Amino acid sequence: MRRVRRYGYRRDSDQPLTDSLADIGAGQGLSAADRRILDWHYFWDIELDRSFALSQISSWQFDTGQSYRGPDLLFRDGYDQILPGLAAGLDIRLDHVVSAIDYSGDTIVVQTNDGPFQAERCLVTLPLGVLKGGSVAFTPALPTKTTAAIDKLGFGAGYKMVLQFPQVFWDQAVHFFGYAAAIRGESAEFLNMARYTGHPVLLMNTMQDYAATLESMTKTDATARVMSDLRNMFGPSIPDPVAVLTTDWGVSPYTGGTYTYWTVGSSHRDQKQLTRPIDRKLFLAGEHTMDRFPGTVHGAYLSGLKAARTLRRHAR
Ligand SMILES: Cc1cc2nc3c(=O)[nH]c(=O)nc-3n(C[C@H](O)[C@H](O)[C@H](O)COP(=O)(O)OP(=O)(O)OC[C@H]3O[C@@H](n4cnc5c(N)ncnc54)[C@H](O)[C@@H]3O)c2cc1C
Repeated sequence: MRRVRRYGYRRDSDQPLTDSLADIGAGQGLSAADRRILDWHYFWDIELDRSFALSQISSWQFDTGQSYRGPDLLFRDGYDQILPGLAAGLDIRLDHVVSAIDYSGDTIVVQTNDGPFQAERCLVTLPLGVLKGGSVAFTPALPTKTTAAIDKLGFGAGYKMVLQFPQVFWDQAVHFFGYAAAIRGESAEFLNMARYTGHPVLLMNTMQDYAATLESMTKTDATARVMSDLRNMFGPSIPDPVAVLTTDWGVSPYTGGTYTYWTVGSSHRDQKQLTRPIDRKLFLAGEHTMDRFPGTVHGAYLSGLKAARTLRRHAR
């Protein structure tokens, strides 16, 4: 990775990470089995992290973004435990779907399925996937520089399946294990939730094409497909799951994908562009606007604080 990073930075123009890896001869001369392990490593270390395939990821930007101080933590009883603290004292209306934001006049009008809302200023935290999809109409249309940044930045594709089994049939001591698929792009990571929760649960995680394939299937078919990966690893006699949960981030109208990554030709400048106030009335926030910590909860949180400060400055 260090070599491809150095090679990428030295180039005059950006290119897909796959091309840079080929240019430096990464993986050349490996046996088919070792090549499969290397592909798994790329999948786990870069593609899962960026939520997209190497062939779309920028050689200049693939490992930028900062780490946050402190240890990694897993919220055993769910991430939503932190929300009541953050939401205390706020007037939050759930199930209000925004369809249009008109900022042409002195008063902004936000249309929802439960009637219009009016405001002097508006902080827009729609995900990048929703902004890309265009399901929320802006009047006037967003500035060209803003839409160019929205178009350029990539929004990842990911899929998770939670499988609860009657009992643990895998090594209960490991944090996770991986499925290095024979077909590139069909690999998966399995988090061993039994280690953290004591319940016989695996959390399967994959991205891009395999994510889209599983998402397009019925839950029964997707489960059969994932179980065939597990049976390849653990043998035909492992039990069927007793309960399964799946995600739909790629097709949900409220997400349109997972989180932001840098496509070839996009950069931090695009995220900075998204933080610029629009007409001193509209302010964008969300993980996609945070160049230091994109694709993270803390990035989204900090971007909201930053946008609120900017909004307050413009309110004076
Ligand atoms: C698979 C996966 C793994 C991740 N792992 C981690 C991790 O380990 N650590 C980490 O820090 N981060 C992780 N993240 C990223 C993190 O979840 C996101 O970066 C963060 O949630 C983004 O917050 P946000 O407020 O920008 O967007 P969101 O959380 O997507 O919030 C946007 C909100 O807008 C709402 N909305 C959309 N359209 C409309 C509409 N038309 N009208 C009204 N409301 C609308 C949505 O319902 C949603 O509530 C992960 C994300 C995924 C998908």
